[in-house]
Amino acid sequence: MLGEQAESRSALEVRARAILQGAGYERIETPAFEATELFARGVGEATDIVRKEMFTFEDAGGRSLTLRPEGTAPVCRAYLEHGMHKRRQPVKLWYLSSFFRHERAQAGRYRQFWQLGAEAIGSDDPAVDAETIVLLSSLLAEVGVRDVRLRLCSLGSPQTRGEYRERLQAHLRSHESSLAPEVRGRIEANPLRAFDSEHEGTRRVMRSAPRLLEHLDAGDRAHFEAVRELLDDAGIAYEIDSTLVRGLDYYTRTVFEFTSDALGAQSGVGGGGRYDGLIELLGGSPTPGVGWAAGIERMLLASGSSGGTLDSERSRDSGTGSAAAPVELFLARAEPRSAADRRTAFALLCAARSAGLRAQMELGGRSLKGQLSHADALGARYVAIVSERQASLRDMQEGRQEEIASDAVVHAVLRGLRTL
Ligand code: ATP
Ligand code: MG
Repeated sequence: MLGEQAESRSALEVRARAILQGAGYERIETPAFEATELFARGVGEATDIVRKEMFTFEDAGGRSLTLRPEGTAPVCRAYLEHGMHKRRQPVKLWYLSSFFRHERAQAGRYRQFWQLGAEAIGSDDPAVDAETIVLLSSLLAEVGVRDVRLRLCSLGSPQTRGEYRERLQAHLRSHESSLAPEVRGRIEANPLRAFDSEHEGTRRVMRSAPRLLEHLDAGDRAHFEAVRELLDDAGIAYEIDSTLVRGLDYYTRTVFEFTSDALGAQSGVGGGGRYDGLIELLGGSPTPGVGWAAGIERMLLASGSSGGTLDSERSRDSGTGSAAAPVELFLARAEPRSAADRRTAFALLCAARSAGLRAQMELGGRSLKGQLSHADALGARYVAIVSERQASLRDMQEGRQEEIASDAVVHAVLRGLRTL
C-alpha cells in the first residue's frame, strides 16, 4: 500500500470510528492467526474459505494454525474467552484488520486485504439486525461508495434450513445431468452454493429450485418481517433476494450484502448476517449475534478514492463518536412491549443519529428498571421511554420528566442540549 492509499484508508477509519463508536461499538483487535479449528468449525468445513482459501501452517510444536480469513469467529472466541456474557448485552464490537485468503489475486481481490467489521453479540432483537444494516449503509454513504445496492434474505433456523437443504438436494439430484461438474460435486456438502453458479445449465435448473424463503417457520418469518419494517421506516432501500448465499456456514435468519455497480466482477462491498448458533458451536451457551464485514480496498475503489481522494480533512471529527463520550439520548421501551413501539423507538434512533446526536436504543430485553440503570451506566443525559405514539422524556441531569408525542422527542432533546 502506497502513501495516497494509506491516507484514504486512514480517512475511512476516522469515519468508521465516528459512526460505530457513536453507536456504542468498542474497538477490538484479535491476533493475526488462530488455531485452525476455530475457522474449520466456525466458518464451516464445507465452505470455500475453509476448503481452499486458508493459509494454514504448523508451528514448531506441531499445532495447526491459520492466518485469519475472517473476523467473526475470532471475535466470538474472544467474547467467550473474556467472559463478555457477563457484560451488558448486546456487546458491540468493531474491528479494522487485515485478513488472508488464498485466492487468485485481481482488481479488488487480494490475498491480504483489509476489512472493517462490526459484531453485536447477545441479543436476538430484530432491531439489532436493522441497526447494523443501517450503520453499514450510513458508512457507505459517508465514504461516498457509488451505486450501492442492498440485497436481503433470511436463512431461517438451522432446522428449517436442514429440511430445505434436503428438498434442494432432491431437486439438484433429479436434474444432475444438467449441472456444472463443480455444482454436482457439491450437492452433498454445500447445495446452496448452486445458486451462485454462472453455468448456463445450472442456472436453468436453479430457476425452478425450491426457495428457502417460502419454507421459513412462523418465528423466523416474524423476525424477518420485523427487520424489513424497521428498514422501511429508516428509508433503506433493499431487494429481497431469495438466492442470496453467503460464503460462510454460520448464518441464521437475516443475511444481507451490499454491492456496488461501480465495481467490476468483484462487486461485493460488504455483507453479513445473524449467527445465532455460532457461539454455541464454539463451546459457549446459546448466544445470538449479528454482524457484518466490509472490504476496505473495495469501498475505496467504489468511491473512486483509492488514489487518495477520500480527504481526511473533510472527515467528521471523531470527537463526536469517542468511546468515552456519554450518550445524549437513550430510547427505552415502555411496558408492555409491542412491535409497534419497537418501530417507533428505532425510527427515533435513526432520526436522532441523523440529527447528530449520540443515541442508543434498548436492545437487550431488559425490564424498565433495568433499562434505566443501563441508560445510567451509559451516562445518558436524556431517556425517552417510548410507546407507539407517546414518550416520557426524562432529563437525567435536571430530574425533570415530560410527556410528549414521540415524534417530538428528537427536537426536544436538541432544544434541551441547546444545539437548536
Ligand atoms: P466475494 O464474493 O467477493 O469473494 P465474500 O463473500 O468472500 O466476497 P465476505 O467473506 O463476506 O466476502 O467478506 C466481506 C467483504 O470483504 C467483501 O464484501 C469484500 O468487500 C471483502 N473481501 C472479501 N474477500 C476479499 C479479497 N480477497 N480481497 C479484497 N477484499 C475482499
Ligand atoms: Mg470470497
